[in-house]
Amino acid sequence: MPSIAITHINTLVTNDPSLGSGPLGRIRDAALVVEDDRVAWIGASSRAPATDSHIDAAGRSVIPGFVDSHAHLLFAGDRTAEFHARMSGRPYEAGGIATTVAATRAATDAELARRLAHFRHEMARQGTTTVETKSGYGLTVEDEARALRIAVRQLTEVTFLGAHIVPPEYRDDPAAYVDLVTGPMLDACAPHARWIDVFCERGAFDAEQARAVLLAGRARGLGLRVHANQLGPGPGVALAVELGARSADHCTHLTDADVAALADGTTVATLLPGCEFSTRAPYPDARRLLDAGVVVALATDCNPGSSFTSSMPFCLAVAVREMGMTPDEALWSSTAGGAAALDRTDIGRLAPGTRADLALLAAPDPVHLAYRPGVPLVSAVWQDGTRVA
Ligand SMILES: [Zn+2]
Repeated sequence: MPSIAITHINTLVTNDPSLGSGPLGRIRDAALVVEDDRVAWIGASSRAPATDSHIDAAGRSVIPGFVDSHAHLLFAGDRTAEFHARMSGRPYEAGGIATTVAATRAATDAELARRLAHFRHEMARQGTTTVETKSGYGLTVEDEARALRIAVRQLTEVTFLGAHIVPPEYRDDPAAYVDLVTGPMLDACAPHARWIDVFCERGAFDAEQARAVLLAGRARGLGLRVHANQLGPGPGVALAVELGARSADHCTHLTDADVAALADGTTVATLLPGCEFSTRAPYPDARRLLDAGVVVALATDCNPGSSFTSSMPFCLAVAVREMGMTPDEALWSSTAGGAAALDRTDIGRLAPGTRADLALLAAPDPVHLAYRPGVPLVSAVWQDGTRVA
């Protein structure tokens, strides 16, 4: 593949403090060279080496592609009516997932694959170059396994979420459903997934059930993630930290002990402000976590029920306005933070040798992502060195 130089970048965010100023490793009047699927060179625009082709950024900015470390893209149907009703005064409850389960079970493989590709493209246009996605709308051995088989053909970050809710047919015997998830369903799904996740929340799975799911997944070599403390205080975050989960996601209702545990442990706190936005719920307090020294990621939680946005720039802007994050912190959490939540060092930053996953912004500085909310600033996107938007 021919080499490409992007020159005259007014602000290049590398997320590598050894390459530029501050925690974002900002470089002014920078250039970046892409060779094959990797970043080959970064430095001052005036010293850019000769390349096969050349793009003049003309004073725009370049950031690492967004890493959306939490999404649910394997579903059919939508929940327009539920959103409409909720915005007319009814509270969100986790049981609404059953509606999507019925539609997903009825969908063909081709339809699920086509929809996943559609969302990937929609996300790429908004600067996202890595997205994690979860099963969890099949909830039978066959439906969960087929969702993951479809996902791994398109994505590397795939998560088994059989423990999303207890499906209607197991309503009277949730213990039997946990046995299914940790037994035959895990056997069928583990070969297609990198991660296992559980919705540890009142109305979904309690601490004991969640522990059983996570331990079974770990025994099969899967990394751990937990939907934790979204709708109220609960045991999810403490369990995630105790078991060394890579990420505890939502973290909206935290005790001081939860915050201290996250600060002392290795678990990333992934905040999903699209969810609070779309359910008119109080936002998580990112400032409290950051001040305690917790590693924070931002992600969309893109799903048809509680957060049907695929836009990382939107989540970043909300995090700055509503959650106490600075623009720099929100950008870091949307890129390097997401990479940390996926235990990846080849994405979420730009340095020689990293994947050439980057977005060109029609703005002189990426602060504009929060400064100009809702404005489509992403003007070009490369993933693995190939222009995708
Ligand atoms: Zn989720």
